[in-house]
Amino acid sequence: MAEMVLTCPYCLSNRITFTFKGQYQWTSNPHTWNTFWVCRKCEEGIVVKLVGPSHSLPSDCPGDPRDAGFDLYGIRPRIQQFRAPANVPDAIARDFEEALDNLRRQKWTSAGMMFRKVLQRATTEMAPEGIEFRNMRLIQRINSLDKHRLITPAMKDWAHKIRLDGNEATHEEDEDFSGDQARLMKEFTELLLIYSFTLPARITASNDPIEPEN
Ligand SMILES: [Zn+2]
Repeated sequence: MAEMVLTCPYCLSNRITFTFKGQYQWTSNPHTWNTFWVCRKCEEGIVVKLVGPSHSLPSDCPGDPRDAGFDLYGIRPRIQQFRAPANVPDAIARDFEEALDNLRRQKWTSAGMMFRKVLQRATTEMAPEGIEFRNMRLIQRINSLDKHRLITPAMKDWAHKIRLDGNEATHEEDEDFSGDQARLMKEFTELLLIYSFTLPARITASNDPIEPEN
């Protein structure tokens, strides 16, 4: 059976075997094929464009079609580079990117904990004048930011619906995150970073003095 060892754009496994599941031959160029493959680890599907020798079918290859004279012309989806939003301070951006990496690798708990760390650092930077955030729980910080109108009421409501601080009764190290919980943490964290760092920087840039027209 045809199979290929590739990096999976979904689970990011580095050398994982994909099983051949289907093929489509271009009518406009019979050497060109769109082929469908499934990751043996996460079961997600990818489309691989192959260009091969005449009278050869990708499905007839006993192993990797590249060993049978096919050239690989592209894989969809592409592996995405995950980056923090613009203008986020470097240390926070690094932690956010590490959290994203954990999320992509389906390490839900590591991702959830890392997003929490990002929120702790980001809210510390956002603390209103004269208020010490250091010993405050995340949800208390969010309430304080809302009170001082440093986040929107909708963001505060959202924060109350996700497990920002986890269960007080258990130690955080013992806590598990589900995929859905980790993804919600990502959405919330990303929005908070955009609202607090990216938007103000853009507004400042667009208010830069413009030379008057003569
Ligand atoms: Zn995969």
